[in-house]
Amino acid sequence: MIGRESAGQAVARTVTARAPGKINVYFRVGPPREDGYHCVASLYLAVSLYEEVAATPREDDGVTVRLTDESTAVREPEDFPLGPENLVVRAARLLAERTGVGTGVDLAVTKHVPIAGGMGGGSADAAATLVACNALWGTGLTRDQLGQLGRELGADVPFALAGGAAVGLGVGDELSPVLVRQPTHWVVLPASYGLSTPKVFSALDALRSGQDVPTPSEVDPEVLKALIAADPQALAPLLHNDLAAASVSLAPELGEALTEAVSDGALAAIVSGSGPTAALLAEDAAHARQLVVQLGDEPGLAAHAVQGPVHGAELI
Ligand code: ATP
Repeated sequence: MIGRESAGQAVARTVTARAPGKINVYFRVGPPREDGYHCVASLYLAVSLYEEVAATPREDDGVTVRLTDESTAVREPEDFPLGPENLVVRAARLLAERTGVGTGVDLAVTKHVPIAGGMGGGSADAAATLVACNALWGTGLTRDQLGQLGRELGADVPFALAGGAAVGLGVGDELSPVLVRQPTHWVVLPASYGLSTPKVFSALDALRSGQDVPTPSEVDPEVLKALIAADPQALAPLLHNDLAAASVSLAPELGEALTEAVSDGALAAIVSGSGPTAALLAEDAAHARQLVVQLGDEPGLAAHAVQGPVHGAELI
């Protein structure tokens, strides 16, 4: 969406981009590296729950961020930082610095991906910001160049730019696209609380203390086949997340939510990334909608029926 907004005498151009949240359909985590990060083998799936970022130019070099009233994924406003640590501010400043842009931008974020939920919402915000500001400022970076900037902001940012489905190795940012033609259908079930990703990784290291943990080098080929075939029955028993035990150790109610989801009819239920959002696999779109109705009175934010893969960050 490239619109024109009147602000007194001035006419400002606003550019809006959106980027999807993700589910890790398969997630293996290795031992901690010397830099504190972990090597992973991840099968990422971009799903149809989007963040939107509207970028409006400023005459000075300031970069501001605010949440719009249409945001549905904010439990407490203070969960969303409004200072320089916000990933959208960091993304805009990084792009400006690397391309020599001297003017600033006001960024309005519409959040639908649960904050600190394990679906990469902050990364999606950063990806949408890079795409919106690249268009606003006419900086002309390619998607690959934006991906290079994105990996400086966070391991999940390159995938939020790329979208679709992808195997992620390294810290998750060495992406190989997976060609999936048919969607699978899911319900994402946010929790009424957040989990800090670094704390979940530390809890995993503590649970594995004394064990010899191998560095993962690939995603189980059977999972890839089932996702490519869009075969939910084959996929259900193959979903895996090494972080699940750590997330549940920090939030035991998450374990109960997963068990209940399966007794409510989900084909399988996994922790999404570091949690605490749960990803429930459905047979098809109608089954996903039915699960949302059944889960309607759970505490926390509303459940959403989603499908994936969907496109990565794009202008709207
Ligand atoms: P991931 O799945 O990539 O580990 P997540 O989805 O669990 O991440 P996010 O919502 O991306 O978690 O953000 C985690 C923390 O980052 C928040 O608690 C918040 O303090 C900080 N943060 C910085 N920028 C943002 C942003 N734009 N949106 C949400 N949180 C942000």
